[in-house]
Amino acid sequence: MELQIKTLTPIWTGGVETGKMDRLHETSIIGSLRWWYEAIVRGLGGDVCDPTSDNPEDRCQFDAKAYEKTKNTEDGLASVCSVCRLFGCTGWKRRFEVQAVTTDLQAFWLATKDKPNKFNHWWLSEVYESQESYVALGQIILRFRWIRGYESQHKLIQALLSLVSQLGGLGAKTQYGFGLFLYADVQFISQSLAIIKQNLVNPNPRKDVSGIYPTLSDYWLLQCVIPNNDVTRQFNQVNIVGSQQTFDKYKSHLLPVSFDIRYKLPGSNDKGLRQAYRLRYGKMSTRQLFGTLKGSEKDKRSSSVFVSHLYKENDSSDDYQLRVWGFTNPDITGEIEKSLKNIFPNLCCPQTKGSDLLAGVEVQI
Ligand SMILES: [Zn+2]
Repeated sequence: MELQIKTLTPIWTGGVETGKMDRLHETSIIGSLRWWYEAIVRGLGGDVCDPTSDNPEDRCQFDAKAYEKTKNTEDGLASVCSVCRLFGCTGWKRRFEVQAVTTDLQAFWLATKDKPNKFNHWWLSEVYESQESYVALGQIILRFRWIRGYESQHKLIQALLSLVSQLGGLGAKTQYGFGLFLYADVQFISQSLAIIKQNLVNPNPRKDVSGIYPTLSDYWLLQCVIPNNDVTRQFNQVNIVGSQQTFDKYKSHLLPVSFDIRYKLPGSNDKGLRQAYRLRYGKMSTRQLFGTLKGSEKDKRSSSVFVSHLYKENDSSDDYQLRVWGFTNPDITGEIEKSLKNIFPNLCCPQTKGSDLLAGVEVQI
């Protein structure tokens, strides 16, 4: 069973060594599908376990004893959540294998207004060691093989992939612009959510994780359209981290400048989402929202705000698109929109809220 996607921004899956991607790694695709499925199931009010918890009661496990008694799989699965039933847990294998076939691996590249050795450029070069790394672009085929008897669950993956294509991105480092894609058989959001909802088991959360883990009910999206002029005015001169050749090949429709937009726009004091937010709300709440690597293990946190690269939906479009999304109180979107307008004065930012999607409001993304 094959699903076809086409990238809008490069897909990054990391590799064996941190900071390098040697090929498209399926584990990263599966990991991000699971992450999205958890967030969506939580939003739908379904029970999702906490696989990283120290408390065994928070984690799912196949009950082999109960199964041995009756030989009924459902008895073994009695306390296994909807997500683990599909993606696996202790004693219960993931129901599918996936192979990703890609024809277009390109040498890694990013662009920034900063010059070599200056802040953004320096930081990006440090993190990505860009010379020997690749990203996946273009058409990708995801080939699924299901455990016998579970083939009908393929519709869950189709619904999930459709939602991810409309709401966020696939693979790693989606907070830094990677992983946006078009899905060939995209469905209406309400339809995809209904399919997933129908398949929920045990729809009472065992532990309230709102505010701890991402949930569709906290989701918001700004799918912005930016006139070409605004983009060329701001990013006329960029410096490349990684492959100049890849940059030249894709520059007419893909500008990998998420980092400049998300942090601090080089050459300004108050532009860039994180910088604008920090000036207004201070360091600590900025770390809460945009993530931090500083402090002890427990202080480190991943970002709740995701900023895509600038991309064109197809070759004939003149305008650029920018997708910014997050899992926070949606009140923040006003602030984010204001900072984006500071960078791109003529951008237009239709807004979508997860709570509306869950309430069945149909939106075109
Ligand atoms: Zn579980």
